[in-house]
Parts: sequence; structure tokens; C-alpha cells
Amino acid sequence: MNYISTRNASLRVSGAEAIVGGIAPDGGLYVPETMPEVTAKEREALTEMDYPARAAFIIGKYLPELKDELPSMCEKAYSRFDGDPAPLVKIEDNFYLLELWHGPTHAFKDMALTLLPYLLTGSKRVLGRTDRTLILVATSGDTGKAALEGFRDVDGTDCIVFYPSGGVSELQQFQMQTQKGENVFVSAIEGNFDDAQTAVKNIFTDDGIRDKLASFGYNLSSANSINWGRLVPQIAYYFSAYADLVSGGEIEDGDKVAFSVPTGNFGNILACYYAMKMGLPVERLVCASNSNNVLTDLFDTGIYDVRREFYKTISPSMDILVSSNFERLLFEISGRDDKLTARRMEELKANGKYVVSDRELSELSQIFFADYSSDEATKETIADFFEDTGYILDPHSAVAVSAADAYVGDEEIPIVTVCTASPFKFVGSVLEAIGTSVPKSAIKALEKLEDETALPLPESLKELETLEKRFTGVVGKDGIADVVINYAKERA
Ligand SMILES: *Cc1c(COP(=O)(O)O)cnc(C)c1O
Repeated sequence: MNYISTRNASLRVSGAEAIVGGIAPDGGLYVPETMPEVTAKEREALTEMDYPARAAFIIGKYLPELKDELPSMCEKAYSRFDGDPAPLVKIEDNFYLLELWHGPTHAFKDMALTLLPYLLTGSKRVLGRTDRTLILVATSGDTGKAALEGFRDVDGTDCIVFYPSGGVSELQQFQMQTQKGENVFVSAIEGNFDDAQTAVKNIFTDDGIRDKLASFGYNLSSANSINWGRLVPQIAYYFSAYADLVSGGEIEDGDKVAFSVPTGNFGNILACYYAMKMGLPVERLVCASNSNNVLTDLFDTGIYDVRREFYKTISPSMDILVSSNFERLLFEISGRDDKLTARRMEELKANGKYVVSDRELSELSQIFFADYSSDEATKETIADFFEDTGYILDPHSAVAVSAADAYVGDEEIPIVTVCTASPFKFVGSVLEAIGTSVPKSAIKALEKLEDETALPLPESLKELETLEKRFTGVVGKDGIADVVINYAKERA
């Protein structure tokens, strides 16, 4: 199975190379050259498997070179979850939640980032690579912590994380500042997530920096969803949710289901698109955004335009204007036109916008429905949903519930809303939404949410206050390269 760059289809690598490399040398993203299929018979077989076996089966279609090791890799990775890694919760007929936040850092990023270190070290073994891998991460809050936990003390790897100063929740910042492990480093940067992501992307495509790092024995890779190894584990949970609907007697195999996905960098929802292309019966993909609604506008008008105000919202992991993975979708709907995709990405970089054709827009609107929620509306959703069902949503999941409601209206379409974070992770906004006062201390706030909702507070969040803050530095945007080089130099 080969992978090609979205910006140059003649640039062809193996899955192992795509994972070790992260981003293609031309700045494009790796995509599978052909889409593997999952037959109805195979779908049926999935209903008999547990989550790690389902994941190993789906991922094996894309990474045949790791096929034999995948079952044990998935076993180990998903043993770090509290129970079923991807339980489906029925709220009412035709309305389900897929909870993806039962991993070590309580956000859905764990679904991929507990497994990525195994995929990466396995890929290096396949390729006979012995250099150290430096994982560089730009995070809007959740990826950073999940990558740090995933890669912490994994042999042959180091992990450096940059997050926007003041752009993450207090708990997210706590989680990252107190990270344990001998092979990790964390820094805040002045600027927003897009600044952090751009700065990190620039390092990936800077040969001078790469050469310097190589001289210290380091190869760069990425744990952001630009890395194929981040995306591929995410495809599995859509098949898993479907298998649970079938085995629970909620639908018959072959029935179509819609998914509503809280979207930032477009990785999660893109994984659902790939699942659909592989043969999962998907009726519609609901792309849910917060006030940073570049994607809602794109799906409405065909114009992708990032020249607008950036909002800090109560769903910070979706505070993104440039959704990296949209490039992969753009490549697909252009009929896999690499030159056109490259041109559009140039345009985006130079002018902050590009336009899709009418044909592409009409194809997009057959597959996607897009909607967005302001912070006010999101809080209302949290409060109403809690009152009606007793279920407490985090703000990201609430954005998706609201979009799901907007999509189905009164119709009887089974819809699964993807829940991406534990409400404890965004405790301040959640307490505010349900109309209770918010204690100043983060830990008191956590306990209060536990009292109010009877949802058990995870131990790893409770203990945060007692941990040493190891990483409290802030750098300017232009200082990122030096931080990375110095880190490598010190360890060479
Ligand atoms: C990362 C994240 C998202 C957005 O996912 P993308 O794959 O970037 O679109 C949504 N919710 C939470 C809680 C997240 O951590």
C-alpha cells in the first residue's frame, strides 16, 4: 500500500515512511494511493470483536507492513483506557453519543496518540531506522498532552510541545506544565494556535533546520493530524460505532447513519470521510464549528477565507482558522488533482483564501452539512441537554450536539454525535453553563462538577494540583526553532 503527497502524486512512499516522515517534503500531506475496502461480510465480523481487535483490523488495511504486530499494539495502547475506549451511549431513538474521552488525558486525541508511538517505532523497525525521532507538536490544548503521555519515555523518541499562551484551559495548561518523563519538553508561545501550527510546519519544511537536527542524530516527525499515523486510528471508531449499532439491534447492517463531529483541524471528521469511502454506510457528515466558522462558510459558499477575526471560545480545541486536514479532502473532491491542490495551498498562504468550483461545492454538499454555535448557544445546549437527559456535555461535544439537532430536525435519521472531551477538562465553562458559581481553585471546581452531575472525577485530574510544574516558559513565535535545536543539541 503506497501513499502519495496531496501536492505531488508522483511522490510515492510506503505507510511506514509516511508515518516516520510526518509531512511530505513538498509540504503536502500523505494520502493513501488507493482506498481499501471493507465488505459487508467484514463489517459483520467486526460486530463480534472488541475495540482493540476492530482497530487492528481497520488499521491493518492501511499498514499491511505492521499487520502481524497490530493486534498486540492495539491491545497495549487501548489498555490505557478506562473500560471500553469508544462506548456508544443511546440518548433516545435515533440519537446516540460516541464517547471518545476515556483515555489517559480525557480527550479524543488519546484514541490515536496512545497508539501512534507503537506505529512509529514499528515503522522505524520496518525501515531499519536507528536515529532518534523528535516529535514536534503544535497544540490547541488536547493534542499536546495526549502526545506527551503517549511518547513519554518511549525509547528512541523525544516530544516537544508548543501551545498558545493563554489559549488553552487552565486544566489543559496544568496537565502540560506538570508532564512527567525524561524525553519531553513543553513551552507556551506568544500567539494563537494558527501561529504555533505555522511555526511548527515551517520547521518541518526548513532543510537547514532538518540538517542541523540530523547532525545531532535526530529525525523530525509530527504527532499532529497531518501525520497519517494520527489519522488512521481514528477511522476505526466510526466502524466500531456502526458495529455497536448493528449488534445492539438499533439498525440493520447496510442502513445509513449520520455522524456529527466537533471540528477544528478537520482530522476527526476526515477520518469519517475515509470510513465512508471504505464502505461504511454514512448518510451525512455534520461538520460542527464554533465561532471560528471558516468551514461553515466554505460549505455554504465554496469560499475558504481565513482573513477574519480569530475568536477565543469555550471550545478552545476548535479555535482554528486554517484546518490542515482540509487539504486532504480538497485533494479528493478535486478528483485527486495534485497540481490544483498545490496551487490552492499556495493561494491560501499568499492571499488567505481560495475558491472551490461549483461542481466541487455540489459534491461537498451531498456529503456534508455544516453548522456552527456561538459560546452562548453552546452553553444553552449544555444546560438544556443536562436538564432534559441528565447527561453532561463538554463544550466541544455540545457544539456537535447542536449541529446534529440542526441537521436532523424532525426527521428520523439515526445520528451519532462524537463526544471529544470529558466535561471535567472544561470544568469552568460547564459549571457556568449549568448556572452554578465557579470556585476559583480548579480542583474545587472539579469536585463541584462531580457533586452536581454525579459523574466520577478522574484520579489523574484530581492529583494535578499536587504535581510539580516543570515547564512554565514562554517563547516568541520566532524563538521556536532555537528551542528545538537547543533541545536536540543538549541531548546529542
Ligand atoms: C482536537 C479536538 C477537536 C477537533 O478535532 P479535529 O480533528 O482537530 O477536527 C474537537 N474537540 C476536542 C475536545 C479536541 O481535543
